[in-house]
Amino acid sequence: MHQKPDADAMGSTLGLSLFLRQLGHQTTVISPTNWAEWLKWMPGCAGVIDYEYSPEKAIAALDQAEWIFCLDFNTLTRTRHMAARLRKISVPKLLIDHHQQPEEAVFAYGISDTGKSSTSEMVYDLIVESGHADKIDIDIAACLYAGVMSDTGSFRFPGASAAVHRMVAALKDTGLNHTQIHENLFDNFLENKLRFMGFVLQNRMEVYYEFNAALIAIPWKDLVRYEIKTGDTEGLVNYPLSIQGIKMAALIIDRDEEVKCSFRSKGGFDVNTFARTYFDGGGHFNAAGGRSTDTLEVTVQRFLNALKENSSQLQ
Ligand code: 5GP
Ligand code: MN
Repeated sequence: MHQKPDADAMGSTLGLSLFLRQLGHQTTVISPTNWAEWLKWMPGCAGVIDYEYSPEKAIAALDQAEWIFCLDFNTLTRTRHMAARLRKISVPKLLIDHHQQPEEAVFAYGISDTGKSSTSEMVYDLIVESGHADKIDIDIAACLYAGVMSDTGSFRFPGASAAVHRMVAALKDTGLNHTQIHENLFDNFLENKLRFMGFVLQNRMEVYYEFNAALIAIPWKDLVRYEIKTGDTEGLVNYPLSIQGIKMAALIIDRDEEVKCSFRSKGGFDVNTFARTYFDGGGHFNAAGGRSTDTLEVTVQRFLNALKENSSQLQ
């Protein structure tokens, strides 16, 4: 899965791992970095190896592997410090992913489909189309449900197709408690996260009505002051999109080791291309991310210049 995994990265990978185990395979799940507290309820999550925290364990598993499944990312740079190791490994790498423009040469086999709502939906399809629908138990269902629900914005984005709803119906048939999963993901934060969100919406958000865009830029000192942990800023970028008329929202965070950018849009503005062009990133048409090696101030200035350059597409 990709670094700082979200619910789809973690859910699709654990779902596939649990399925492969049912077929008698031995599996090890590795995350390139740590992950949010609110993902830890997922079945199998306690056994996931954090490559940054336990590199020896992760490398031993990689060295033993006969197949490497890469889920919810399509360029090795998304695996951060694991990338160099993955690049030189000789066993076949299989891709299962729904982002744009895969780094095709890296993968021996794969399914890359930007039409899919989530990687979790793709794992579900793989299980069903290989004739193993009966292997989907309540644990696999919980992992895949969390992923598809999260990547479709709780089934509101255009990717939430009829097929997605049919998949959810099938997952419900395993006895899945979807209310509990929503609570695990959305009602499971510490007080400081909400205080932090209130603070940044009040003090760090700028709205540029001339570009139908808004930006939240967060300095490192805010993360320290509110004791912000991995995952605590997830979802923040969506708030400015709820302002009438705003078609594009950006979140730029100084995470100390790098400046991380997130972009979201509604309708016809392509943030994948925007992130690729200006911020060494990528993703989907309406949700993408990137990074910058400049300071926060310089990155914000570059963002404002990019808005100007894209002014006509934002009208
Ligand atoms: P987020 O803003 O939540 O980090 O990411 C939004 C989407 O863009 C996700 O699907 C994520 O996988 C993708 N994404 C985020 N950062 C990057 C990046 O630096 N490079 C690429 N290629 N995709 C990214
Ligand atoms: Mn995804």
